[in-house]
Amino acid sequence: MRIVIFGPPGSGKGTYASRLAPRLGVPHISTGDILRDEVKSGSELGKSISSYVSSGKLVPDEVVNRVMEKRLSQEDCGRGFILDGYPRTLQQAYFLEGVSKIDFVINLNVPDEVIVRRLSSRLVCRKCGAIYNKITLPPKVDGVCDKCGGGLYQRDDDKPEVIRERIRVYKNEAAPLLEHYRKAGVTVIDFFYEPDEAGRDVSPDTVVDRIIKALKGS
Ligand code: ADP
Ligand code: ZN
Repeated sequence: MRIVIFGPPGSGKGTYASRLAPRLGVPHISTGDILRDEVKSGSELGKSISSYVSSGKLVPDEVVNRVMEKRLSQEDCGRGFILDGYPRTLQQAYFLEGVSKIDFVINLNVPDEVIVRRLSSRLVCRKCGAIYNKITLPPKVDGVCDKCGGGLYQRDDDKPEVIRERIRVYKNEAAPLLEHYRKAGVTVIDFFYEPDEAGRDVSPDTVVDRIIKALKGS
């Protein structure tokens, strides 16, 4: 199964993709992670992309395309993959077409207020990047990462005004891509946010179960 997952910041996209992947037996390919690893490695390529990544600007298409083509040519992609963070421009989508067929697009729809609520309570591990939430997914020890013991902090871009702007940017970016895939006849599975009876977010595993059901049903 070759899947592209779309969702606004705070939609749970990375969390769902990382749990979905082992259940489908395919790798979760996070473009952001790959680019950050490249920067960390100190390679020439890493140096050329570090200013984009650190300022949150899109890395030029030809660079990202080259990196992704290399990743997709690795053996573990033989049975498929879940692409998270790619494509983000039409040019990337056109390039991807030349590299691989896409079977499904998963499109996560989450109301703006829910995103603002979630992200403004988000905490990130300084050391390993693990993500927590003050309300829904607190660490066992306050301010400390369960996985690596690193310190947790709130990202500057997780402030409400900045979150609203990020949502706006995301919508502008995703709309033409979704239209492209719909027109191309790729099955787009739309997922709409649904809280539990108490109005709380349902667990990631529940969402992943629903996504798998939808994939099998289509
Ligand atoms: P964010 O959701 O904050 O953009 P990501 O982890 O998805 O976080 O990406 C981190 C950074 O990596 C982005 O800000 C951008 O610089 C770069 N990046 C990720 N995916 C792409 C892509 N498909 N095209 C260009 N740049 C990308
Ligand atoms: Zn950590």
